[in-house]
Amino acid sequence: MNNKDDTIIEVKSVKKIYRMGKERISAIDDVSFTIKRGEFCCLYGVSGSGKSTLLNLMAGIEKLTSGQIIIKGKNIHKMGEKGLAKFRQDNLGFVFQSYNLMNAMTAMENVELPLVFKRIPGKKRKKMAKDMLVKVGLGPRLRHKPKEMSGGQQQRVGIARAFVSNPEIVFADEPTGNLDSKTSKEVMDLIKEMAKTNHQTIVMVTHDRRLADYADKIIHIFDGKVEDIELKQHDPSETESEILLREEQTTEHDESVIVDQPVTA
Ligand code: ADP
Ligand code: MG
Repeated sequence: MNNKDDTIIEVKSVKKIYRMGKERISAIDDVSFTIKRGEFCCLYGVSGSGKSTLLNLMAGIEKLTSGQIIIKGKNIHKMGEKGLAKFRQDNLGFVFQSYNLMNAMTAMENVELPLVFKRIPGKKRKKMAKDMLVKVGLGPRLRHKPKEMSGGQQQRVGIARAFVSNPEIVFADEPTGNLDSKTSKEVMDLIKEMAKTNHQTIVMVTHDRRLADYADKIIHIFDGKVEDIELKQHDPSETESEILLREEQTTEHDESVIVDQPVTA
């Protein structure tokens, strides 16, 4: 079950040091973990713990100090600028806390944008953008510009834009950070449902435990290090190493082992 082919992202001994004048800030300090295809993974920790830095390293937005990040078998920090841009276009989607929409463009035009970069012809592009906006509940808002929509609606546009090209992996940094709790829940449900329907992998950053609970795997980050890895589909308090140990023990429990045990009556 834990077969290696399931792995879509590998983070290996990653370090990131920011140099500010004479000061060195160790933002990410020797971090390693893997994410499986189709997994909803959360980087969870307090503000300043290094979550955004780690996400940006995983998305190839920031340069590593050392270590490796392997996505779909490719060492993304060894790619050239053009190769990486193409790889991101073909495989990755992004949802931002501040939506990052183009204010002069309509909802439709914003969602079409990644398809323009992928050179998808106009008619097909418009249909894809419209279908996606309908899916996120914005059918009646196609021609609205960001300023003419609520925060929740703007983030729905952001989600439609991230998912429209059906990327295998979607990165989201505090995607509900600017929304009230009811709207946050709606947005989270939407992200989770889209990802599960299309077997997409989600890597989401949050400092909010209630949002982290949407994930299958919660990677606790503290002071630039992995503090714990929590797998939610099992007992929530069980760590990854505990689960591996339990799985090993279960598979070893064949009859010969049981027969060899002393009888205590
Ligand atoms: P989080 O997203 O968990 O709040 P960040 O990844 O933004 O944390 O930041 C982690 C640490 O790295 C913080 O101490 C922060 O001040 C520092 N940091 C982040 N970005 C930079 C930068 N561009 N230059 C210098 N230090 C940075
Ligand atoms: Mg952050």
